[in-house]
Amino acid sequence: MNLTDEEICMHYGEDRQRYEGAVSPPIFQTSLFTFKDFNTFVEAHEEELSNFVYTRGVNPTTKVLEEKLAQLERGEKCKCFGSGMGAINATLLTLLESGSHVLFVNSIYGPTLQLADKLAKFNVSYDCVDNNLENIASAIQENTKLIYIESPGTMMMDVIDLKGLSKLAKSHNIVTAIDNTWSTPIFQKPLMFGIDLSLHSLTKYIGGHSDVVAGAVIGNSQLIDRIIQYGHQLNGAVLSPQDAYYLIRGLRTLPVRMKEHQDNVMKVINYFKQKQEVRAIYHPSVKTGSDAEVVENQMEGFSGLLSIELKQDRNKFEDVAKFIDALSLFKIGVSWGGYESLVTSPSRPNNENELRKQGTPLGLIRLSIGLEGAELQIADLERGFNALKQ
Ligand SMILES: *Cc1c(COP(=O)(O)O)cnc(C)c1O
Repeated sequence: MNLTDEEICMHYGEDRQRYEGAVSPPIFQTSLFTFKDFNTFVEAHEEELSNFVYTRGVNPTTKVLEEKLAQLERGEKCKCFGSGMGAINATLLTLLESGSHVLFVNSIYGPTLQLADKLAKFNVSYDCVDNNLENIASAIQENTKLIYIESPGTMMMDVIDLKGLSKLAKSHNIVTAIDNTWSTPIFQKPLMFGIDLSLHSLTKYIGGHSDVVAGAVIGNSQLIDRIIQYGHQLNGAVLSPQDAYYLIRGLRTLPVRMKEHQDNVMKVINYFKQKQEVRAIYHPSVKTGSDAEVVENQMEGFSGLLSIELKQDRNKFEDVAKFIDALSLFKIGVSWGGYESLVTSPSRPNNENELRKQGTPLGLIRLSIGLEGAELQIADLERGFNALKQ
């Protein structure tokens, strides 16, 4: 099948004739489904995961969303969850058992590592490695069951060679999973490079309007069915049909939104390049050397999340706060990927040593470039730099 991403986002998985021709799928706001006779019920119940029986299993509205996401990632199957962490938790708990070891590669989303810490009580251990394939190879243990990566990461935007990593993992029979939230399937399709599972916080670009918290995991039917049976059905991080509807709506504009985020972020980056107060820009589009090759080989575009590092004489908490407080278009807040521009920083009044230990530069400011247009965004950022001069 050779559908474009646009066709998938707008039309795929929607059987409109079943819904009186309604162009927009109905929200099946129901917890359960009833049956005309007991035999039909018994048959449906036996195959609970492929029939509409109970919404903590399958729901028709959610199913439309899952079919689109599976197709977008070029995977066989998708399961959606009530949050990105729900999807991550379900994946880890399904694939790991007592005695398992996990390798986390590249900078990993904080709560994912906090969860990994908690898994110690089930006798699951883990290590973190950087994005160097040789380092990864030597960190693999006999009981390594999963290699879990982020590429790009969402603070320093580091990348890792997906093809090289999946080849290495396959030679050791290890399952690979990627948190693909930064790129969305529009700009990166990791399963096509041999990665087994692609996870998303749908809360970010796919929702796109900062009004839904949701997650998803995509992969082959066998792996996803295992995750559904244990990690979804029994852990219970279920997506509501109403929120599935908002996500279907978000998907319709995802391709055009991503183009616009990219357009804006490239202009903002060019602006930052001319600013002497900026020591470094962190974004996959400005990588050099072998990292630039990795980006070229596996990414089809760039989303709007980037970080900048202020020059050393301007990298104290007070400077970071001064810069951020001078902005008015960029709102201060966690999360990212919505229509609105956002700003945050890992800098705190007394955490310089902690940041140094983590390898996080002092004076790091993370920006989510929204859809207001680069002209407005740059004018706002100029206020931040002016405040630094005072
Ligand atoms: C936000 C985020 C998550 C967690 O998703 P929630 O929907 O907030 O649970 C996971 N990974 C990354 C990279 C994120 O940015």
